[in-house]
Amino acid sequence: MKIGLTGGIGSGKSTVASLFEACGAVLFDADAVSRELTAAGGAAVALIAEAFGTGVVTPEGALDRAAMRRRVFGDEAQRRRLEGILHPLIAQRREQVMARAAGRSVVFDIPLLTESPAWRQRVDRIVVVDCLEATQVARVVARSGLTEDEVRRIMASQASRAQRRAVADAVIFNEGLDLQELDGEVRHLWAHWQACETMLRL
Ligand code: ADP
Repeated sequence: MKIGLTGGIGSGKSTVASLFEACGAVLFDADAVSRELTAAGGAAVALIAEAFGTGVVTPEGALDRAAMRRRVFGDEAQRRRLEGILHPLIAQRREQVMARAAGRSVVFDIPLLTESPAWRQRVDRIVVVDCLEATQVARVVARSGLTEDEVRRIMASQASRAQRRAVADAVIFNEGLDLQELDGEVRHLWAHWQACETMLRL
């Protein structure tokens, strides 16, 4: 079974991803894959340098994110060009993870799942981690040192809570739960979906 996992910044999505892993899921972390591809020596860096010039690569050989952001900001053609490099490499990683999973369920942790019809089509079920916006802000400020305004700006650039919930097969409301209770919610959903899979196979 392919489970898509998403949630706004600070919702608790990464925490839930780890709890699914503890249940026995194989995890595909889209952010980690993107970071790896664009880190020094990453598979995407040489291709990006070829397409965009060495001005978008740091002296250490990693993608210069700030320079790249300036290049693609408001320029649809450049953005597509970058995606044309990254997407096939991400697809390759996805296939590797699926092969390694060998029939076990895979949780795809995709921050922009709601915004991406292609990703939504690739998964069998979608679970959304949701919480109040004030809680998102409080968690991220505590974790990252960003200001409340900066967090709210990131939130405004992402899908809204309502848009996420509209694509969800299940919602984990991560509000007023301690980590043990959150773990209980994840285990419950995991057990339910595994049982559904078994029934579907009978
Ligand atoms: P996201 O990946 O959605 O940005 P994280 O999973 O990193 O969010 O969670 C943000 C912060 O909030 C982390 O420091 C995490 O430990 C904490 N957190 C999330 N859910 C809970 C919870 N139910 N109880 C206590 N702390 C939580």
